[in-house]
Amino acid sequence: MLAVFTDKLSSYLDEKEVAKIQRAYTYSEKCHSGQMRQSGDPYITHPLAVANILADMHMDHESLMAALLHDVIEDTGVTKGQISRRFGRTVADLVDGVSKLTEIEFETKAEQQAESFQKMTLAMSRDIRVVLVKLADRLHNMRTLGGLSPEKRRRVARETLDIYAPIAQRLGINDIRIEFEDLGFAAMYPLRHRRLREAMKAARKNRKEIVTEIHQAIELRLQHESFDAVVKGREKHLWSIYQKMRSKKKSFRDIMDVFAFRLVVENVDDCYRTLGMMHNIFKPVPGEFKDYIAIPKANGYQSLHTVLVGMHGVLIEVQIRTREMEKMANY
Ligand code: MN
Repeated sequence: MLAVFTDKLSSYLDEKEVAKIQRAYTYSEKCHSGQMRQSGDPYITHPLAVANILADMHMDHESLMAALLHDVIEDTGVTKGQISRRFGRTVADLVDGVSKLTEIEFETKAEQQAESFQKMTLAMSRDIRVVLVKLADRLHNMRTLGGLSPEKRRRVARETLDIYAPIAQRLGINDIRIEFEDLGFAAMYPLRHRRLREAMKAARKNRKEIVTEIHQAIELRLQHESFDAVVKGREKHLWSIYQKMRSKKKSFRDIMDVFAFRLVVENVDDCYRTLGMMHNIFKPVPGEFKDYIAIPKANGYQSLHTVLVGMHGVLIEVQIRTREMEKMANY
C-alpha cells in the first residue's frame, strides 16, 4: 500500500484498523491482478483511489475496507461468503450493498426514472456507508472518464447529473456534488463547457475591481464594529451558471452582475448582528432574505441568505454562517 495513503490513515485511525485496511488492500490487489482499467492502469489503482476519497472524508475503517473490495464480487467472482469469512460480516454486507447498487443502474435507462431510483437507493441501503462508497466510486470514475468512448462517457455523465449529484446534495456533501456537476457538464456538453469556462475567465478580470471594492466596504464596517469575521468572495461553478442561464432564461451578463460573498463568524448571535450591519451598509432587496438558521434546509444546511444592492447597482448575494455551519455545509 502507498505510504501517502498509510500516513493519511494513521492520522485518524488506530494501528489495528490500519492493519485491517492493509489486509483488504493486499487481498483486493491479488483478486484484481492482471486486470486493467480502460486507461491501461492496473485495476487496483481504482479501488485504492476510491478508498483515498473516503479517507479524505475521515470515514471509518470498515468503509475503507469495503472501498478497496468494492469491485471484487462483481469483477473477480469472489463470493460474499468468502469476504465475510475473511473480513467479517459488516464489510461483506457493505461490499454486497455496493455491488447491488451497480446492478440497479443497468435497469434504469430513462431519465424519468432517476427520481425513483434516488429514493430507492436511499431506502435500499440500510447502511448509509454503502451510498458513500458508491459516491466515491462514481467520483473516481468521473475523474477518469477519458478512457471511455464518447457515447459511454455521455451516458455516465447524464446518470451522474441525474442521480448521483442530487444524492450528494441530499446528503449535504457539497464538495462532491459540485465536482459531479462540473465533470458531468464537461462530459455531456464539452463545447458549451469550454465556451462558458472561457467567458468566465474573461469576466473575472472585469469583476476583480468590483469584488475588491465590495470586499473592502464589508471589511471596513466589520473592523469599525471591531467584529471578527472571515469575508470570502464566492464564485459560482460552471454547472450552476449554466443551469441558471437555462432555467431562468438569464444571460451570462445578468449572472455575472451578481457578486457573491460569504461571511463566517463565531456564533449564531454574531450571524444576526452581521446581517444587521450588512443591511445597514447596502440596501437589501425585498423578499430575498432567508433564515436557514432558524429553519434549516432538509439536509441540515444552515445559513442566513440575503441580497443587497451595491455600488453601481450591482447585486450582492451574502451568506452568513458560523464556522461550524461552514464545515457542515461542505461535508
Ligand atoms: Mn468501481
